[in-house]
Amino acid sequence: MSPHTSSHAYFPARSPYGRSPHVVIAGGGIAGLTTALSLHAAGFERVTVVEAAAAIRPVGAGLNLLPNAVRELDALGLLDALEAGALRTRELRYYHRSGGLISREPRGLGAGYRWPQLSVHRAHLQQVLAGAVRARLGAAALVTGVRVSGVEPLPDGRPRLRLEHRAGAVRGRASLEPDVLVGADGIRSAVRAALHPGEGGPPWNGMLVWRGVSRMPARAVGSFMLIAGDDRQKAVVYPMSRPTGPGREVLVNWALARPADSGCAAAEERRRGDWDRCVPVETFLPFYEGWEFDGVRVPDILRAADSAHEYPMVDREPLDRWTHGRTTLLGDAAHAMYPTGSNGATQSIVDARALAHALARHDDPAEGLAAYEAERRPAMTALQRANRRLGPEVVINLAHERAPDGFTDIHDVVPAAELAAVAGRYATAGAFDADTVNQGSPYEVPLPVIG
Ligand SMILES: Cc1cc2nc3c(=O)[nH]c(=O)nc-3n(C[C@H](O)[C@H](O)[C@H](O)COP(=O)(O)OP(=O)(O)OC[C@H]3O[C@@H](n4cnc5c(N)ncnc54)[C@H](O)[C@@H]3O)c2cc1C
Repeated sequence: MSPHTSSHAYFPARSPYGRSPHVVIAGGGIAGLTTALSLHAAGFERVTVVEAAAAIRPVGAGLNLLPNAVRELDALGLLDALEAGALRTRELRYYHRSGGLISREPRGLGAGYRWPQLSVHRAHLQQVLAGAVRARLGAAALVTGVRVSGVEPLPDGRPRLRLEHRAGAVRGRASLEPDVLVGADGIRSAVRAALHPGEGGPPWNGMLVWRGVSRMPARAVGSFMLIAGDDRQKAVVYPMSRPTGPGREVLVNWALARPADSGCAAAEERRRGDWDRCVPVETFLPFYEGWEFDGVRVPDILRAADSAHEYPMVDREPLDRWTHGRTTLLGDAAHAMYPTGSNGATQSIVDARALAHALARHDDPAEGLAAYEAERRPAMTALQRANRRLGPEVVINLAHERAPDGFTDIHDVVPAAELAAVAGRYATAGAFDADTVNQGSPYEVPLPVIG
């Protein structure tokens, strides 16, 4: 792209078929790519994803996708491709840090859902989504190396985007005036900043998160997802691929959390903008020595990691408004939440489908965006707040508070009914309980009849 490109270079000509508004999506992450695919499936022909990174890179660690998101990816025809590089999550176990089992619950199909829960490397999911966008919408629909730097409303209600791009040493600026703008540009969204000036950066709760991926013999990992510890120190570990090779090795995702050392808290706070910071495993390994749960030795898994990444644990304050005229927010840009309950990417995928459905059902795009927000914002606000109270993981904290040194029978500490009630309340808050999910996608859009 040359410097000072006019807006025409960015988007395809008006199609005589399908729905005609030009929709620009800021951000080519999980949310933005799924939005493009959902709009295409709903008959929108002029969709452009503008991604700041120079390429869609295979970065990140693992994710768990709940059955409500898997249902929507299935509706988009992506389930087989996704499952080719994913693992069905069949069981979730919560452990006391002393090693005692607090609870175990079946997940996905075993819990009565019609769709599985999937453990998947983010890179695989991202590649499946980006490949489908290019194949279905055309390569030109996904523009990389272009950053949205500002947004302002035009008198007719449409947004004007300011764009910056860089090709080698050449930098350029351009602007675009689409019919609709979707800010799917993540927790540090430029679109959100334009709509909510003065909000500042994401608030930090003082915890650090370390994430990584290890390759281990399957027998050293178990076949379940484990969450262990309490609200001060936690470990999440799960396999996310089927065993391969003579060593029957699997990819294992792990994420750890504990407070930043008090001495360096201020420094950490200043570093909050520093995402994807690579740190040696030795930085945090000593805190997890001795952590072993039904034969899964957490330190062994950490030592096997290629690299480890450190993040501040940040989220976003719930907003009282996502939509301003023909501009809205989606995914982490709208409702970034603490990584609890496997909901961040999951709900971004559901947002994407809800947005396409709402836009398709309203001739006026502003009304469509308002309908999308009315459908999604209340439940996402509830989840953001629930995750600040540990979401479903509150059970590990209850066990720790009531029995800091461990227990003989967990039901003396946290009765079974209380355990079930915590999980049930959380699923209902996010509308991902099995009864609701099994009714099928509410976001299917019949394509317009042509001719
Ligand atoms: C430790 C941890 C564990 C997690 N585990 C899970 C899990 O198990 N299950 C789950 O569902 N979720 C999980 N999540 C959350 C999940 O990763 C996010 O919610 C999800 O990736 C959000 O996707 P997104 O597309 O909205 O944002 P992002 O993935 O941040 O994508 C935003 C995209 O926008 C681009 N961009 C940014 N600014 C601009 C700009 N100005 N112009 C153009 N492009 C821009 C970025 O380059 C990026 O590609 C976890 C998160 C963490 C931190």
